[in-house]
Amino acid sequence: VRHLWFEDILLPGGWASGVEVGIANGRIASVAERPMEAGAERYAVGLPGLCNVHSHAFQRGMAGLSERRGLDAAASADDFWSWRDVMYRFLDHLTPDDIEAVAAQAFIEMLESGFTRVGEFHYLHNDTDGLRYSDPAETAVRIAAAAAATGIGLTLLPVFYAHSNFGGAPPLAGQRRFLSTVDNYAALWEASRAALQGDATIGIAPHSLRAVTPDQLASLLPLCLEGPIHIHAAEQVKEVAASVAFSGARPVEWLLDNAEVDRRWCIVHATHLSNAECDAMAASGAVAGLCPVTEANLGDGIFPAARYLAAQGAIGIGTDSNILIDAPAELRAAEYAQRLQHRSRNLLAGSDRLSVGGRLFTAAQAGGAQALGAEAAISVGASADIVTLDVNHISLTGRRGDLLLDSWIFAGRAGCVQDVWRHGRKVVIGGKHRIADAAAAQFRTTLRRLISL
Ligand SMILES: [Zn+2]
Repeated sequence: VRHLWFEDILLPGGWASGVEVGIANGRIASVAERPMEAGAERYAVGLPGLCNVHSHAFQRGMAGLSERRGLDAAASADDFWSWRDVMYRFLDHLTPDDIEAVAAQAFIEMLESGFTRVGEFHYLHNDTDGLRYSDPAETAVRIAAAAAATGIGLTLLPVFYAHSNFGGAPPLAGQRRFLSTVDNYAALWEASRAALQGDATIGIAPHSLRAVTPDQLASLLPLCLEGPIHIHAAEQVKEVAASVAFSGARPVEWLLDNAEVDRRWCIVHATHLSNAECDAMAASGAVAGLCPVTEANLGDGIFPAARYLAAQGAIGIGTDSNILIDAPAELRAAEYAQRLQHRSRNLLAGSDRLSVGGRLFTAAQAGGAQALGAEAAISVGASADIVTLDVNHISLTGRRGDLLLDSWIFAGRAGCVQDVWRHGRKVVIGGKHRIADAAAAQFRTTLRRLISL
């Protein structure tokens, strides 16, 4: 057993001071307020690691490549759909080795920013011709290997994807690497489960109501009787209109009426909600998987976070496209979108918790753990996933408690995260991951090749 001692630490019941955390076999064996004993490692501030509920790791490789007007000559405007065409072209060349190198870099950046577990919404299953690899879980094996090498907790969400739009529309050429049938998906899901290492877990992910028909959705869910269920919904206005044209219902409305949406579900984005959908989704117990940085980057729209949180809705945060992997930036963007929309401030503070940072961090931590089927809190029996902040950092000087979270989220320059413990192992030391240099070298090799093509 090794002992960490914290001057201040955020426990499930709130901030506590002078706390010793015992770690054994990767898990938290004890949490006790007591004076520091000889042999303990001393830290100023400890936080539970955040769960990144929604990532497409490979997209880290195209970050920054689609910020120019008119990349897609066929599109009438630069929007989500023209971005998606750039992504499809990027996929023409990505090999399993590339996927592993890009994922490792993405996972290192997640750990360095305070995420200790990732929900990898993994849909890149097929080779560049659209055929299954000889091992149907070839790319899932690469994701699991990158997670094991970097130490990040993994909740793998193998995606089922079959159509280009509502009503079972045939897939587009650019979607060939994603496609499954209900029959061959079962084999892929089983092979993906077999690829998991350590404390990695698995859920299931019907891609969206665009890509999956109602019949397919009903056939898929029994494959995974426990573990999280993730789906994209209502990210785009065009998608909402297509849903209404197809079924008469908006996407989230349709899910709430036709699927047994409960605490196992994470509805990713859920950007465009009517007030009735917003309140019903909050009451369902499902987690809203918010990806505010990506949603801003893609011009998706603004999730009604103030109303949803007031209705006690659960949220998690995700880095989605991985355009910029930064946990505090996601929380900041969630609040800033509300400020810009409502021309007011501190909209996501609670009535009982007045600090926006404290409220958002705590909500995203609890909801994120729920969405990834994890017990990511600093409590006995949970995985020892702990983030420490550098209180000597210029942005954090003199702060304690929720003021520290507010300052990290809204005013923290790079370098606030000090050390990160993941499953009882210190993987980030002084802000830098143990294998950051080696992983970056591989990532550079991969990116130089892909960009030169
Ligand atoms: Zn996504």
